[in-house]
Amino acid sequence: MFKKVLVANRGEIAIRAMRACRELGVATVAVFSEADRNALFAKYADEAYYIGPAPSSQSYLNMDRIIQVALECGADGIHPGYGFLSENSTFAKKCEDAGIVFIGPSSHAIEQMGSKIAARNAMVKAGVPVVPGTNKAVASEEEAIEIASSIGYPVIIKASAGGGGIGMKIVHSKEGFKHALQSIQSVAASAFGDPTVFIEKYVEEPRHIEFQILADKYGNAVYVMERECSIQRRHQKLIEEAPSPVMTPELRKQMGETAVRAAKAIGYENAGTVEFLYSKGNFYFLEMNTRLQVEHTITEMITGIDLAKQQLRIACGEKLSIKQEDISIRGWAIECRINAEDPLNDFAPSPGKIRRYRSAGGPGIRVDSGVHMGYTISPYYDSMISKLSAWGQTREEAIDRMKRALYEYVVVGVTTNIPFHKAVLRNPVFREGRLTTHFIDDYKIIED
Ligand code: ADP
Repeated sequence: MFKKVLVANRGEIAIRAMRACRELGVATVAVFSEADRNALFAKYADEAYYIGPAPSSQSYLNMDRIIQVALECGADGIHPGYGFLSENSTFAKKCEDAGIVFIGPSSHAIEQMGSKIAARNAMVKAGVPVVPGTNKAVASEEEAIEIASSIGYPVIIKASAGGGGIGMKIVHSKEGFKHALQSIQSVAASAFGDPTVFIEKYVEEPRHIEFQILADKYGNAVYVMERECSIQRRHQKLIEEAPSPVMTPELRKQMGETAVRAAKAIGYENAGTVEFLYSKGNFYFLEMNTRLQVEHTITEMITGIDLAKQQLRIACGEKLSIKQEDISIRGWAIECRINAEDPLNDFAPSPGKIRRYRSAGGPGIRVDSGVHMGYTISPYYDSMISKLSAWGQTREEAIDRMKRALYEYVVVGVTTNIPFHKAVLRNPVFREGRLTTHFIDDYKIIED
């Protein structure tokens, strides 16, 4: 096992990774920016080091500085969390070169999945179904129109290097391409440093269903069941649940085995997530996230497997101790992302100081958070306050517990999406589990 792990991240996920370390007897190191001097995660760590000013480009994205701290303090592993450098193959390579274990897949695997076009091609080769579309970059409007007419409208233009729901546009007709292609190319260039775009069929009324996988260095891989993440705003997840209400044992086996095949095809190791769109009995590979996901908590709740500890064990070379037949589902879990954002103003972030704070608790409730009373949510980073997860023996019980926990949760000082979550959970269509990625738009759910 590692002796000392540096967590190259902040907030709740830094604490999550450090909790896993602590349980395994591994010393922890935090790195923090100017804005995070007094943050909880920096206090939680055994050691904490300042790495730079608030903008992430000068702190949490400063690879050389982070590696220098790791070397100076004698860390033998780096946990990247999610976001920031977690899916940066250059960073993984720099860790490898510095003799520090990057707690995640190899830089090569990250690189293959980091480009959506390269990932699609690798999946086609491995016999994994992908959304109909192009397997190469699309450069001109004429080319785009030709492709779209062959696959049929509507289509979606996507940035190959895209992430976080940024760099996507739906096109319904030939005229729709007028400025769309160029605009996505320039968004992609400025957000991801890569203007490459491609075109896919826009799958109508899909569900987003993803499979958690774990793979070791020795070719062993398992799927740790699925999560349904259809409740999204701006193509970003807001509420997730596990298992999926549409899943059957046969479909789970088929999708799960496909996810494992996808991972094996690129020699993947560590924890990862294979995302699919599901529509009318068919499923299509969307992308693979080569890191621990925000929503991993609900998988932990229904399977009892500690994914963060598994990441550490796999990274230090242990053989996967879990066999597919050992993994079973107990009950149901839901996660609500509690954000400082205004649902009545298009979910705009609402950073500021938390004046009163009391988190929820009681049976079946898990709160992963990096905030406290008096904490200031910084405009420099994401607006997450916490992840509220609820477990129940049935879906109904999980929903009822979540509703009760949302009622208990007190956050004063910033606008939060708690009232919005309450409205979704009360919605009869949600309660029936009839979910699609259009749920929020279709039902125009607004505050109490
Ligand atoms: P990102 O990497 O930005 O998260 P994804 O490719 O994972 O992008 O897509 C995010 C979300 O966008 C999906 O969950 C889905 O709601 C929507 N989406 C992406 N591609 C398609 C598609 N071809 N058809 C319909 N919806 C899509």
